[in-house]
Amino acid sequence: MLEHDASPDHDRHMRRCIELARRALATADAPVGAVIVIGDRIVAEGVERVKARRDVTAHAEIEALRAACVALGSTDLTGATLYTSVDPCMMCAYAIRLARVGTVVSGTPPMGAATPLDGWTVLAGADAVPNRPMPRVVRGVLAEECRALLMAWRSPRGVGHD
Ligand SMILES: [Zn+2]
Repeated sequence: MLEHDASPDHDRHMRRCIELARRALATADAPVGAVIVIGDRIVAEGVERVKARRDVTAHAEIEALRAACVALGSTDLTGATLYTSVDPCMMCAYAIRLARVGTVVSGTPPMGAATPLDGWTVLAGADAVPNRPMPRVVRGVLAEECRALLMAWRSPRGVGHD
């Protein structure tokens, strides 16, 4: 598992995630944005919409996965890279594995108490998801900017990425 990879492409796509994360703030949602890239092209984007839609599954990564599958006409995202401004939770990690995403690039860990089982246990667990490949993982891209958004969102409310 790679902890950091200072690729200009990673920075560029993460900046788009940060723009999308700012949109989530407008609906009081957690500032999380995600994009899915194939080659050098963004094929789908996702904005956190849990509160806006009253849908606990509307995490930015799930929104991006749904949009990518529709755009590509397939649930097989082999070769795709998913960027997300906050490390994926277990739900999103499982969906990422189901879709066979090849690489996951994330910004910052979520805020709040650490849990013994998190998204990384699903992404990096060989047997966590049967018959699905483990993605390559790059963490900590533009971490300070991603975390600053979380801090700004959380400070007046004292609630987490929910
Ligand atoms: Zn999630």
